[in-house]
Amino acid sequence: MEKHITVIKGDGIGPEIVNEAIKVLERIAEKHHHTFHYQEVLAGGCAIDAYGTSLTDEVLQACIDSDSVLLGAVGGPKWDQVDPSIRPEKALLGIRKGMGLYANLRPASILKQLAHTSPLRKDIVDQGIDFMVVRELISGVYFGDKKTYEENNELVACDQMIYREHEIRRIAHTAFQTARKRNKHVISVDKANVLDTSRLWRKIVHEVAQEYPDVELSDMLVDNCAMQIVKNPAQFDVVVTENMFGDILSDEASMITGSIGLIPSASLGESNTGMYEPIHGSAPDIAGQNIANPIGTILAAAMMLKYSFDMAEESDEITAAVNEVLSAGYRTVDIMEEGCEQLTCSQMGDKITSYIK
Ligand code: NAD
Repeated sequence: MEKHITVIKGDGIGPEIVNEAIKVLERIAEKHHHTFHYQEVLAGGCAIDAYGTSLTDEVLQACIDSDSVLLGAVGGPKWDQVDPSIRPEKALLGIRKGMGLYANLRPASILKQLAHTSPLRKDIVDQGIDFMVVRELISGVYFGDKKTYEENNELVACDQMIYREHEIRRIAHTAFQTARKRNKHVISVDKANVLDTSRLWRKIVHEVAQEYPDVELSDMLVDNCAMQIVKNPAQFDVVVTENMFGDILSDEASMITGSIGLIPSASLGESNTGMYEPIHGSAPDIAGQNIANPIGTILAAAMMLKYSFDMAEESDEITAAVNEVLSAGYRTVDIMEEGCEQLTCSQMGDKITSYIK
């Protein structure tokens, strides 16, 4: 198979970690006789330096025209003072919007080799943590009208939360299809006891569920979900929720797994296009030292194979290689522990590549 990947290495540790993910992709391509074409483009802080803006029309078009986008991370102190309209993070919002990426998939799973890094009690972790948060990404309160005005001699602020039927329907399909590739259980999270948007959410999700009789659906209120994630995370398979609830719950879910350097994320739109990245930022404090953990980015590349290229077997091979490398006691410095061997960023990429037999 032949695929075109737009590569945005970005800022800080971005280039270091993306290089390792490409190394692993090239090993997969060689083994399975695929050809991956990489088009490297600038977005984020480095694009501000080069073009005066974090995302040019040409770069956005390259993303839209490709089969998927692989991203490192953008931003850093160098660009903290730039005009808000061209900030590095604006590039990501621009790409999500321009590519119509309405679904964010973030796995929360804990590798048993790293179970001790979880802040949760051991008996809870031992029951297993392996679920996927499916978050609606381009609607809801973050995208509704906003205003701040004066009333009765005081300031009043207002953010509109809005959901349209089709926006709920398409993310519900993503959730049920994701569940079909997992353990076939969707928990839909809302605040239907208070919000109209949540009542519509619940109605539409249940309608869509009729098309997936093989997938079990339950509802959960968002406040209860926040508690259940730390109390009994083993009960979750796929959690689907609206934008703001998903923003908060996916961060909570990531944190119970322990290390920020290990977690990937996928943003998906129609027709399987997507943007894949680790959840962490550009880590300017360790940039250029070859010590960053590339595993989150490597697992993001694995998600790209599964969700955008329909290469589940190849994807699973990468995940298995990561697990085996960790089981064999290799660590980058951020997850280093006694008795393990410490590797640099590039050595970790080499090691994982070498485990794809
Ligand atoms: P960060 O995630 O970059 O770093 C937080 C801490 O985690 C740092 O100590 C860092 O060294 C460490 N860390 C992060 N990734 C690591 C890795 N792969 N291996 C080892 N250690 C790792 O968060 P921050 O410091 O708040 O943000 C730095 C910059 O990144 C800011 O400009 C921020 O806006 C930007 N940012 C970008 C994205 C993105 O591109 N998607 C996401 C979050 C933050």
